[in-house]
Amino acid sequence: MAADPCKDLEAELRETFESGRTKEESWRRLQLNNLLSLLEEKEDVIFQALEQDLGKHPIESYRDEIGPLIKSLNYALNGLKKWMSGRKAALPLAAFPASAVLVPEPLGVVLIISSWNFPFGLSLEPLIGAICAGNAVVLKPSELAPASASVLADLIHTYLDVKAIKVVQGGVSVGEQLLQLKWDKIFFTGSAPVARIVMTAAAKNLTPVTMELGGKCPAVVDSLSSSWDKTIAMKRILASKFGICSGQACISIDYIIAEKKFVSTLVELLKAGTLSMFGVNPKETNSMARIINKNHFRRLKNLLNEPSSKASIVYGGSLDEDNLFIEPTILLDPPLETGVMTEEIFGPLLPIITLEKIEDSIKLIKSKPKPLVLYAFTNDEGLKKRLSSETSSGSVVFNDAIVQYAADSIPFGGVGESGFGRYHGKFSFDEFSYEKAVVRRSYLVDFWFRYPPWNDHKLQLFKSAYRFDYLGILLIMLGFKK
Ligand code: NAD
Repeated sequence: MAADPCKDLEAELRETFESGRTKEESWRRLQLNNLLSLLEEKEDVIFQALEQDLGKHPIESYRDEIGPLIKSLNYALNGLKKWMSGRKAALPLAAFPASAVLVPEPLGVVLIISSWNFPFGLSLEPLIGAICAGNAVVLKPSELAPASASVLADLIHTYLDVKAIKVVQGGVSVGEQLLQLKWDKIFFTGSAPVARIVMTAAAKNLTPVTMELGGKCPAVVDSLSSSWDKTIAMKRILASKFGICSGQACISIDYIIAEKKFVSTLVELLKAGTLSMFGVNPKETNSMARIINKNHFRRLKNLLNEPSSKASIVYGGSLDEDNLFIEPTILLDPPLETGVMTEEIFGPLLPIITLEKIEDSIKLIKSKPKPLVLYAFTNDEGLKKRLSSETSSGSVVFNDAIVQYAADSIPFGGVGESGFGRYHGKFSFDEFSYEKAVVRRSYLVDFWFRYPPWNDHKLQLFKSAYRFDYLGILLIMLGFKK
């Protein structure tokens, strides 16, 4: 019987990891620098792959994938030495004399499974964290962006240490084969149903997991008073819906919540903004990505063709299956039980839900699973405070969207149905590390009451040790306390 290629590969990586090579700071730096060279030297190849898979404009590809990765690599190269050095921890006085440090260690051989919408960003961003932390890695990109997956495999195997970092291409069956193996960590980006399969497989080996999932990110849009603020807000909303992978992004705005009295102004502003960004014939634009494939196209078409959704279209709505293009489409008040309001849209359809009072948005948001991001466009500090404190989401962003993704200093991740675990910057290093506690004691001081035989006096001393620490023990020993 032929050997399982995935098993052989995992065994090879484990051998490399056990050799200790990936733990060396010099190895980590070399891989990060080589990744930088890969991105700088092969920019055109990456642009072509993203054009082929998703029809992304090179600016979009640079802005959302290559640029943030270069920034992350430089940030990691700057921080690596500090991140790798352990940190001191205080110990109770009762342990005196002693010292403790927390030493970050790599987890071992890790599996990264990624999604198709940002095939480079969502594969390489976790890979940067895994390398920084000193792990050996298998990366499985999504089969739905085949040109990008093939470029990732070629380039990673050319630029990086192939004995420690491997790309495995394939779809569901390859993913299933990989999940049969024992990993020291699984970092998964994708949908909640597949996340459940991954977690079930991970549970067999007690493998820790990070789950970067999706859901419906709402944007609460208040009736901003100044026309400048309104114009900027509309541009930011449109760019983060239609202008980022045609809305096929986990942190894209999924739907808007606005007050009834503001909605006609809002719709007019959104229409005008859409026209200015994508023209009168958006099918001709090269500034909007295409839908990834026919299955997703038909999924979106079905959402739009539900009679109550169709009836709510106030702008756009045309579809071109041959070119996998869907026009920017705005829907006004589709019923909350229709597909566009119950499923993650992941495409260029933008429902607006109207309410009497903007504060009622809190109740609506809380009635749905916890989103990856809650956006709100408002200058009302009271509303900001209430939205932050009364709802739960992976993050909250006021008056902009998407920008949070590129910040190394804040964690990226979800909560509840939108996932768990977090990454970017130092958070990625932590996500792929284990902080081992190393405690050093001396023989200089030794409390006799630690050892049997037991008596009441020793019990009192233990009580003091836990309650009052060293001072309490001293007082009891000196006879000042009972
Ligand atoms: P998906 O869950 O279908 O696939 C994700 C990955 O899992 C792919 O590589 C796929 O081949 C693999 N896979 C599928 N079935 C598998 C199985 N049975 N066993 C093992 N592996 C399997 O998701 P998708 O369509 O690639 O992505 C869309 C979803 O991902 C959306 O819900 C979106 O919100 C979410 N997403 C989240 C983030 C984030 O950073 N939080 C980013 C992008 C996408």
